[in-house]
This record gives sequence, C-alpha cells and structure tokens, in this order.
Amino acid sequence: ARLSREQYLDLAPGALRDGEPLPLLANLGSSADCAQAVRLGAEGVGLFRTEFLFLDSTAAPTVAEQQAHYTSVLAAFPGQKVVVRCLDAGADKPLKFLHGGLEENPALGLRGLRALRANEAVLRDQLTALAGAERATSAELWVMAPMVTDLAETRYFVELARELGIRVAGVMAEIPALALMADQVALACDFVSIGTNDLTQYTMAADRMLGSVASYQDPWHPAVLRLVKLIGNAGHSAGTPVGVCGEAASDPLLAVVLVGLGATSLSMTPAALVDVRAELLRFTRAEAARLATQVLGASSAAEARALAQAFTTA
Ligand code: PEP
Ligand code: MG
Repeated sequence: ARLSREQYLDLAPGALRDGEPLPLLANLGSSADCAQAVRLGAEGVGLFRTEFLFLDSTAAPTVAEQQAHYTSVLAAFPGQKVVVRCLDAGADKPLKFLHGGLEENPALGLRGLRALRANEAVLRDQLTALAGAERATSAELWVMAPMVTDLAETRYFVELARELGIRVAGVMAEIPALALMADQVALACDFVSIGTNDLTQYTMAADRMLGSVASYQDPWHPAVLRLVKLIGNAGHSAGTPVGVCGEAASDPLLAVVLVGLGATSLSMTPAALVDVRAELLRFTRAEAARLATQVLGASSAAEARALAQAFTTA
C-alpha cells in the first residue's frame, strides 16, 4: 500500500526546511522498546540507558550477560548509530552493586562516572561487553559516560574505552562545570551528548526528584540554554558532534532552539519523534539560530517560551 504524505513524513529522516539532515534518535531503556522506536521512524538510538537493565541486580552483571543484552539492542538497528550510556548509578537511579554508601546529597555524590571509576572493574566489564556486541552486529556503536565533571574525567573515560576496543567514545554534558569547559572537552572526545534533565537540575540547583522545587526544572530557562550554547559552539569549533538526549529534545519548539544553539542530532522518547520531525521541517538552520538568539535574551523560562511561540520565520 502507498503511504499518504503524512505517513511518509512521519517516517522520513529528520531534516530542516532546506533539506539539511538532522538525525532524530530514540531514548531507550530496554531491548523490548526497540521495535516501537523503529516503527516510529527512529534513525538509531541516541541514549540507551543501561542501568535500567540492572535495577534489581544485587551483583554486578557478567560480561556475557551484558553482551547478550547489548547485542540484542544493536541488532535492532543494522547499519545505524546506537549510543549506549555506561551505567549511570546514583541519586534517581540507584544500583545495589554500584553505590557510594549512604549520602546526604546523592545528586552531588559518588554517581555516574564517579561511581564507575571507583569500581573500575565494573566499567571495564561493561566496555568489554559493548565492544563484543559491536563486533557481533552491523550497528555503529558510540559509547558515552554519564555525569562527567571535567576534562580529566573525559580523558580517563576516552582512554579506557579505546583500550577496551570502543571506537567512538564521548561524554554526557550534564554538569555545568563540564559545559563551561566544553571548548577543551570537545577536543578530547569523539562526541558530546547534552543531558538537559541533569544539566537543568544542576544549573538551577533544584533536585529533579523534589516536587516542591519542580518549577525550577525547566530547560527553557535561559541560564540552561546559555550553557547549551557554549557546548554547541565548542562542538562546532572542534568538529565534534553535539547531540541532545534530555527531555528538552522532545518539546518540538525547544528542539528547534537546541538546533539553533548547535545541536547536530536529537534523541527523545519515541512517542515524540513525529511532532519534533514536523516542527523541524518549518525552519532552516539560520532561522533556528535567529530564534535561539532571541530566546537567549529572555529573562526567564516563561519569557523564553513566549518569545519562541511568537517567533515567525518570515
Ligand atoms: C539527562 O540527565 O538529561 C539524561 C538524559 O539522563 P537521565 O535523565 O537518565 O539522567
Ligand atoms: Mg542524567
């Protein structure tokens, strides 16, 4: 059966109005989600959250167990990019076999890459399993570390990943310190992926799990977007791809702003792909950049949103 124009657009690769490709990828947490992402036109995976596979595990998973999981994910995306994140343990995602003990402020504790580095055998096993999974499939595997603080941690991760056979190694930008050093970081890794959920939490100093401060958790805030711009500029100067994989990428108008700030790909919950794809098709990169410039001048998240809604490409 022929597809209608609408159905065709729903599955076409992401692009801007002048045809410039803007890959749209899926955020996934298990191999069971892969089929739906493919059905909704994901061009690959921009964030595979590995910690969800092991939330109930009391002992660290073996290399063989992990390799089987990762192989089934990569096999669902033949010839496409799959970005896998190393275990992001701590705070909102506790893992029994990877934690820093009782912490008063777990969001500021031994989490993400910090926890992996303190348990390097776990990180080595995961990277080994991932390299093995890539060899078993035709997907293009990119591997990134969560909650990376600075250049030294970037170098540590990239070196270890390469030693264990990972070909493309990057870092998540979700801590303001890393964003502020993005010019140096972008030269030391193969790609950067912005996690706007944590980047917002840490920029606004408001716990993303705490209802009483939920109104601060707004990625439209110009303070957050100014950090995104630093990362986008750094990626552009270094020739390093900059993706966005936080929830912000699933808000169609904010997705356009992120492209205007330099994002080269967007990753989101698969259900958002259709609307984001349609919105991007309304803008050229130059128009998105103009929109972003206006939004950066706003004084609040609410004003930023209002400016974006009133923006016309004419
Ligand atoms: C983020 O922080 O934006 C992110 C994508 O990671 P998570 O939501 O899993 O912390
Ligand atoms: Mg995060």
